[in-house]
Amino acid sequence: MTAFASAFAHELTWPEYDAAMRDGQTPILIPIGSMEQHGHHMPLHVDVLLPTEFARRVALEIGALVAPPFTYGYKSHQKSGGGNHLPGTTSLDGATLVAALKDVIKEFVRHGARKVCLVNGHFENSWFIIEGIDLALRELRWDGITDVKIVVLSYWDFVHKEAIARLYPNGFPGWEIEHGGVLETSLMLALHPQLVHLDRALDVAPATFPPYDVYPVKPEWTPSSGTLSSPKEASVEKGHILLEVCTTGIAAALRTEFA
Ligand code: ZN
Ligand code: MN
Repeated sequence: MTAFASAFAHELTWPEYDAAMRDGQTPILIPIGSMEQHGHHMPLHVDVLLPTEFARRVALEIGALVAPPFTYGYKSHQKSGGGNHLPGTTSLDGATLVAALKDVIKEFVRHGARKVCLVNGHFENSWFIIEGIDLALRELRWDGITDVKIVVLSYWDFVHKEAIARLYPNGFPGWEIEHGGVLETSLMLALHPQLVHLDRALDVAPATFPPYDVYPVKPEWTPSSGTLSSPKEASVEKGHILLEVCTTGIAAALRTEFA
């Protein structure tokens, strides 16, 4: 449905971009991820690739544009990403991420955007995204701009119960320990099979943690694989189920909110 030369804002010329954005009708989708280890079998930018692809698919469905993704995110937490002490994981301080998000949101609004969506692919970003949105909207209010609507979502929240039952016939471990497990590995197998090395995957039991955190972290709490659950049951077919369910769900949500 999109009439744009590309779903990616940064692939347009400025006159094309300006024509799309200036009347405030075109939603801009901002993917936000992290550079973070994802086990022995996947690359460091899984959390960037996946929300960027969901944003692209949704943009094509609803006539939106996709902004360049945030490729660094907030620090990996031991219980949801293995921990920030691990090799490869490269993170921002919370204040840095919040400030960068606030700047970028305000820039898109300056271009005309009034419908903005943050498409998150890294669990630990969640509250910092909300803070960036809150500060941006506050400063925009000070400038008299009060007609901006911002939606924030994490793609895995669109996997409904029926899909979970198909994806995890032996029981669902919970999204928090789905780090480098069935969800992300299946999506990567469907989208970027050349970047997945299932033969190198370590088949670990779902990680268990005590109900508290310790800093400095205790590295022995993180499974040696770097993943928090096993990718063994991942498959291309599950990846396609996830692509369908999440794309459909996100597109429907944005059609409602940006109507
Ligand atoms: Zn991830
Ligand atoms: Mn992550």
